[in-house]
Amino acid sequence: MRGSSSVRTGRRPTVKRRKILTPDEYFKGIIEGNRTVIARAITLIESNAPRHFETAQELLQRLLPYTGKSIRVGVSGVPGAGKSTFIEALGNQLCDEGHKVAVLAVDPSSSITRGSILGDKTRMADLSRRENAFIRPSPSGGMLGGVARKSRETMLLCEAAGFDVILIETVGVGQSEVTVRSMVDFFLLVLITGAGDELQGMKKGVMEICDAILVNKADGDNIISARSAAVEYTNMLHYLRPATRGWIPKALTCSSAKKTGIDEVWNLISTFRKTTVESGVFQERRRSQTLEWVFNMVTEQLKERFYNHDGVRRLIPSLKEELLSDRISATMAATKLLAAFDKTSI
Ligand code: GDP
Repeated sequence: MRGSSSVRTGRRPTVKRRKILTPDEYFKGIIEGNRTVIARAITLIESNAPRHFETAQELLQRLLPYTGKSIRVGVSGVPGAGKSTFIEALGNQLCDEGHKVAVLAVDPSSSITRGSILGDKTRMADLSRRENAFIRPSPSGGMLGGVARKSRETMLLCEAAGFDVILIETVGVGQSEVTVRSMVDFFLLVLITGAGDELQGMKKGVMEICDAILVNKADGDNIISARSAAVEYTNMLHYLRPATRGWIPKALTCSSAKKTGIDEVWNLISTFRKTTVESGVFQERRRSQTLEWVFNMVTEQLKERFYNHDGVRRLIPSLKEELLSDRISATMAATKLLAAFDKTSI
């Protein structure tokens, strides 16, 4: 179909085929904050092709000295809590104040549902049009580990491109919150009144990993109940071990729709940053997050190699039979599998 438009119109096509960028062009484009180059570099990071992986890693290596200068904020909550409305309100305000805001998402279900419900530009229409905002939906990396690696690298890339506020959105169910916690400085849990604590993941210990709770939709008839819920949550938070050493989490209210209480949230995040930078907790967490990330990746890759290993795969059916007919113990079966892996993997 190439050139078909020029045949129809008789004019030269105005859209050029995308030229392959050199590593230098990628590097320069990102440092200059060129949005097209940033988007293309993220596509490279998200690609599963080995040749893209290599180029992306070389690029990240070069960008590393320019990373780390942002505040990384995780925003979690069940669908409907108002995360995107809140991010849009906060993001717009921060852009007005001269910040550069990147919105990323971690949604491991995006590969199953074929399309992420998070970080979607149509849900943040105003923010997506801002010069100083960049919104990227969740990569569809399959397993959470893959999604997390890609999001983390995208975050570093955005930092190198000069974004000083990174907002990472995630759904309030399951393991993805713990994963996002391990990438961010500040973790915000968005709740609403009347939805039921259980439904909002409260039983799963999310409160223990958050630095603040935000009771959203504090407007109209809901103001009073939102305020009393915030008092209740603040009391509950007092009894928990703080997620960040030296920081007592608390609950605030806001209306993302009416844009009230947004300032207070940003003030809290700024105070958190100041306090933890002064105490050294901020830097200490970043260091331990990097280390944790390395070892998580090693674990993930070992797991993948193990289960894709020919010897292991061949052995599994017969071992299953022996196990199920009680001819071999579970420990012996595991030992045999590991031995099969060791034999050829070293
Ligand atoms: P998300 O799924 O957590 O991203 O939630 P959305 O931001 O899409 O919001 C879900 C619904 O709640 C939408 O209909 C919003 O218009 C509405 N909503 C979000 N924030 C507020 C708020 O502060 N007040 C009220 N009244 N409605 C809100």
